[in-house]
Amino acid sequence: MNADIRNAGEMKPRVLTVLGATGTIGVNTLDVVARHPGRFEVFALTGATQVERMLEQCRTHHPRYAVMAEPAAAALLRERVAAEKLPVDVLEGSAALTAVATTPEVDTVMAAIVGAAGLPATLAAAQAGKRILLANKETLVVSGQLFMDAIAASGSVLLPIDSEHNAIFQSLPRDFNGDFQQAGVKALWLTASGGPFRTLSAEAIAAATPAQAVAHPNWVMGKKISVDSASLMNKGLEVIEARWLFNARPDQIKVVVHPQSIVHSMVEYADGSVLAQMGTPDMRTPIAYALGFPERIEAGVSALELMGRELTFEAPDSARFPCLQLAFDALAAGGSAAAVLNAANEVAVARFLEGAIPFNAIAASIAHSLDTLAGGAAGTLEELLNADQRARSVAEAYLSDKHP
Ligand code: NAD
Ligand code: MG
Repeated sequence: MNADIRNAGEMKPRVLTVLGATGTIGVNTLDVVARHPGRFEVFALTGATQVERMLEQCRTHHPRYAVMAEPAAAALLRERVAAEKLPVDVLEGSAALTAVATTPEVDTVMAAIVGAAGLPATLAAAQAGKRILLANKETLVVSGQLFMDAIAASGSVLLPIDSEHNAIFQSLPRDFNGDFQQAGVKALWLTASGGPFRTLSAEAIAAATPAQAVAHPNWVMGKKISVDSASLMNKGLEVIEARWLFNARPDQIKVVVHPQSIVHSMVEYADGSVLAQMGTPDMRTPIAYALGFPERIEAGVSALELMGRELTFEAPDSARFPCLQLAFDALAAGGSAAAVLNAANEVAVARFLEGAIPFNAIAASIAHSLDTLAGGAAGTLEELLNADQRARSVAEAYLSDKHP
């Protein structure tokens, strides 16, 4: 028997914590995990409020721990788990999120909480040397330098889940160390679908409803990232994410709108080659890539059908979608500016989803927050969380004032 096959059969399972298990990425992660019995052992699953979904995941995946960030949800889950005699301990609160992401039994952490709420546990997992499958892009936007330093210091393996960064990771040399010159890399090309408002006029975008904003043409995602895709802030956050993941200068990161979402991103080389990763738009592909790395494993994704398909590319329109430029501005400003950008965006997106502000107030409140809070320090987690809190207050005040 081939030694590799024999070893694969006897391989020790990867012990996995899924932060944000009840979200879109979490559900897709567990879908891939379930396709590979024996390959993964689910140690802990975390959620915030969705008790029924967590209960269902406990029945199917048998985690040792289920964490609910909300204590009331944890209490309810505890009752349900006891009634069914499921062998799972229910924990609650943010300290428990960090505990299940850092405990020695765990080797791999899928970081899929949405927003800066995911930062403390994800950073702690990096400091603890876990293999990190990073979906929570806001962690890198808020704490880029600190997070990458933690990865380097602990020797963690960091694998991007965001489809664009996963595509770039796949299109870079395997031994890429962040030196563009040495690797002959000229630029990273992030593709953007353009979102549901790509062809709308500025007036129509200003009047867009939450229902329109979350109806993404190609991807099924959580509400926050769907609104970010509609404003192109998602691409802005991804520019900052790429800056840190790949040690790219801002002028080495390009954005191209590609409405079909088939080319997931590209790397341009000095010799004129452009390497792309393509596939059916389904997050299980990047998730399976990272779960199996360095092996390729089944993801349940339908094959890419290219016959008769047209792939098109166009420049992003910064007049109708000012958020993308705001992200480049925050990168240029440095310090805590990206944390301010992210927090102001989170506040504005939540207010927009409540129906309290118009769509174009999102960009306006981010611009205002960046102007108000320029030049903060970003050396420690405390400084970053302070910047995050101040930006939330500034954005809240601005939006209540403009849209009482
Ligand atoms: P989602 O809204 O579907 O799920 C979010 C998860 O985070 C849920 O499990 C929720 O319980 C948990 N959560 C929310 N607030 C929390 C809090 N305060 N404390 C603890 N847990 C909390 O979001 P999603 O679409 O799965 O996205 C998750 C992350 O992955 C985001 O950072 C997003 O940008 C990134 N991402 C998502 C996609 C996608 O296709 N969905 C693609 C690329 C990147
Ligand atoms: Mg993406």
